[in-house]
Amino acid sequence: MTREDDSALAEAVQAGDRRALARAITLIESTRPDHRARARVLLDGLLPATNGSIRVGVSGAPGAGKSSLIEALGLHVVAAGHSVAVLAVDPSSARSGGSILGDKTRMADLGRHPEAYIRPSPTSGTLGGVARRTREAVLLCEAAGFDVVLVETVGVGQSEVAVADLVDLFVLVASPAGGDELQGIKRGIMELADLIVVNKADGDLADAAQRACADLRNAVHLLHPKRPGWEVEVRTSSAVTGTGVAELWEAVVAAHQRLRDHGVLAPLRARQAQAAMWSEVTDELLDRLRSDAGVRAHLTELEAAVADGTMSPTAAAQRVLERFLGTDG
Ligand code: GDP
Repeated sequence: MTREDDSALAEAVQAGDRRALARAITLIESTRPDHRARARVLLDGLLPATNGSIRVGVSGAPGAGKSSLIEALGLHVVAAGHSVAVLAVDPSSARSGGSILGDKTRMADLGRHPEAYIRPSPTSGTLGGVARRTREAVLLCEAAGFDVVLVETVGVGQSEVAVADLVDLFVLVASPAGGDELQGIKRGIMELADLIVVNKADGDLADAAQRACADLRNAVHLLHPKRPGWEVEVRTSSAVTGTGVAELWEAVVAAHQRLRDHGVLAPLRARQAQAAMWSEVTDELLDRLRSDAGVRAHLTELEAAVADGTMSPTAAAQRVLERFLGTDG
């Protein structure tokens, strides 16, 4: 592809052309160095058109009802006149090539809506790589005019932390199962949440959902607050009946407005962008170091020396760096 083709691609993305958006995301997901170079130019050119969406992370254990709830929420949001993009971060796909989120036909109704765009998780790469590409995909969706971007991730630990660094607000989807153990939701994950929603508050599960909601309300009081003076709201919803879905969206919008009003949003996004810069630097440096011929020639020997205790890890690390930087004389 030529430079002209790429500027046409950038224009088509900004015109809201879904196929152009899909192609642009494929480009930023590519690991080929020439694609990476083009992706950088594309993103740089589109940067002034970004920043305009509400970025929301949605997480929860498999089966909690994330995709059902995102579909219900997404349909509500588009009915209210917004456009919504749904991106997925699925660490299982990075590890196994298969995916928890991607395999089933998900959000079929939302996917058909002209004001919605759904993109499954990239199916290769480390979590860090997937998170970086998702961050870039968020920017592309904003350039394409989406005013709501939902980033879905499976609740297995690390991926929430990565997603929390890409979004303004983090919604945790819980199930009606209550109890002291709070459904095994890790404290660290709860502390990432701005809003918790107990889904499946319908039929036989309605009472259990109310109890879980009360338990979680008590639990969040004991947590270290994510932001000074921030009350984590705990609510119920049903993706099946639609109860609580409009209210959940209102709560998201109100929370986002609060971030703006308190001058928190812009510094948050600025910090996230800086963190992204540093993780890019770290990844790139490590890639280059690992593929450096001079380093590789000595790695086996150094690793063996560290393993059998004849060299300290610190001394070996120093040798690796000296090799890489050419300061080993
Ligand atoms: P995910 O793995 O978290 O994305 O969960 P899914 O959205 O795939 O839902 C898991 C199961 O829970 C499916 O069988 C859904 O039909 C069901 N489910 C999802 N939301 C609700 C809800 O609000 N009420 C009830 N009763 N079932 C739900």
